[in-house]
Formats: sequence, structure tokens, C-alpha cells
Amino acid sequence: MNSVNAKHVHRFIGRNYSTIPAAPGVKHATTGKTNLLGLSLPELSDLITKSTAAKPFVAKQLYTWIYKSKVYNFEQMTNLSKELRGYLTENHGVTLAKIHKLQKSTDGTIKFLFGFSADNAGTSEKPNKIVETVYIPEENRATLCVSSQYGCSLNCKFCHTGTQKFQGNLTPLEIVGQILTAENYLINNTDSPLNNANKPVISNIVFMGQGEPLMNFRNLKAAIGLLSDSGGISLSRKKITVSTSGIIKNVEKVAADLGVRLAISLHASNDKTRSLIMPINKVFGLEPLMESVRNFVKLSKCDKTKRVTFE
Ligand code: SF4
Repeated sequence: MNSVNAKHVHRFIGRNYSTIPAAPGVKHATTGKTNLLGLSLPELSDLITKSTAAKPFVAKQLYTWIYKSKVYNFEQMTNLSKELRGYLTENHGVTLAKIHKLQKSTDGTIKFLFGFSADNAGTSEKPNKIVETVYIPEENRATLCVSSQYGCSLNCKFCHTGTQKFQGNLTPLEIVGQILTAENYLINNTDSPLNNANKPVISNIVFMGQGEPLMNFRNLKAAIGLLSDSGGISLSRKKITVSTSGIIKNVEKVAADLGVRLAISLHASNDKTRSLIMPINKVFGLEPLMESVRNFVKLSKCDKTKRVTFE
């Protein structure tokens, strides 16, 4: 990466935690409430218009409150009717992740351990799914290193996550939830590294945490759709980087379907060495990988000098 050193990130990534696979959209067993976080505008519209008499434009208002205004309490959504606010409060929630633990470094880096409950409603006081996210502030930018899976199946020899059993893909809720929870913490805590209102809270996202993002492509695409939507979170796709060990069938899609920047986790310049430290290289060798990168470059609309980086 240009500005985020891979070793710097991997220092913080990967511990052994018990996790349970995701089950999107399932109501919380105790409260019966569904977490609306992670739903797209069409999904939100479908849910609201089918369960209430509200028109689609009301779903747009709700979407704007959640993703643009970052208001998570229905009672504060003042342009929704009192009846709808009551209905939403009774049946739904907009619940961020629990901050299970955080560690701060003297350079301002913060490692978060976020907890998500097993049913994705996010309302459990005892989250049993833990994911790592790392905040890296620099002079002119602030990068959040985000996870895409619980554990990883690819077993790269230099990576602690590779020693953990793969236990499931993160859902859009769990991916976007990392970003919104970190942002919420950074804005609301006086001891956060933000001491200048003009400084971006989170200016860049790198999918370089736990897991191989291109093996969770559908949820990655949904999450990036939410992050970049100009009617919501509105983060430029040029500020988002997906790092891959080389899942070549999806490399071109990073340009064609996601429109974001690409980082290749290379770590060796010949097949023999790379296969020893990155077993995925035995499946997709260096030449096919580089061919997919060349195709990515042809399709990418990102700045020529920044569209691909190698680690
Ligand atoms: S793909 Fe990434 S997370 Fe998975 S083992 Fe390799 S370096 Fe670690």
C-alpha cells in the first residue's frame, strides 16, 4: 500500500476468538427486533412499505437519517410521523457494534474489537462474534482497516488470521457496522485522536483486515454500495481499496463492479517462494494473477498512479 504499511496493519490483526456464522435479517431472539443497519435503500423501502402504510419516500427519509445524518434513535428522526417512530421503536433498531475492547498506540493507531450478536440484530449485551478493525490516523488522512470475514481459509504463513479457522463471511451490516461504529467512537470520545474539526474522521477505507474480501464478493459489493452512495455515507470509491491475495476470478470485478482501488498482497516475485508462503498461489499462479491485474488496469477509472499497489 502507498500509505498504509501492510505489516503495520497485520501487527494488529488476528487473535483467537470464538465466533458464530452470520444469519442476516433474522430477528433478535429475545427482543424480536430487527437491526436496520446494513440494509440498502431498496431493502429498507421493501421492509417499511410492506409492514406499514408508509410510502417509499418515507423509506428514503429513514435511509437519510441512518446513513447521512448518522442518527440511530428513531425518536430523533423528526420528519417521520409519531406513529411510524413508535412502530419502528417497537419492532426495529439501528444498532452499532459493541466495542468489546480497544487498544491505543502512542502514534494514534487504535485497534478495535467489535462485537456482533449471533443473530445480527446487534442487540445482545454479550456479543459472541468478534471482529478486528484498525484506525490509522496520519497527517492528511485517516484510514480504517476493515475486516471482511471471520477468520480466513487461505493460511498465508505470515498472517495470524491465517492460523484461525474460517468461520464465515461478514454481512453488509457487519462490514458497514465496523465503519460507523468506529466513526461514532471517534466523534464522541474526547480522548480520540481527532483534535481538529477540519480533519477527516475516516477518509479512507482499506479492506485489509481479517479475511479475503474477494471471497466474500457479494457482501463486499453491497457494503461498498452503501459506503459510496451519495444519498448516504457518500465516501468516494477512489478512497476505498480492496486488498487481495489474488482471487483472480474477481480481480477484474474490483474495477468493473466495485470501481475501487486494488492492492495485491504479493510478498514474493516468483511462484516457488510465493507458493510456500501463500498457498493460494498454487491455485492461481503469478502469471494469471498479473494478467488479471493488467485487465483490472484497463477497466479501472481510478487515478492511473494509484489504482493498483503491491505489498
Ligand atoms: S488472505 Fe489475508 S487474512 Fe487470509 S491468511 Fe492471507 S493475509 Fe491473512
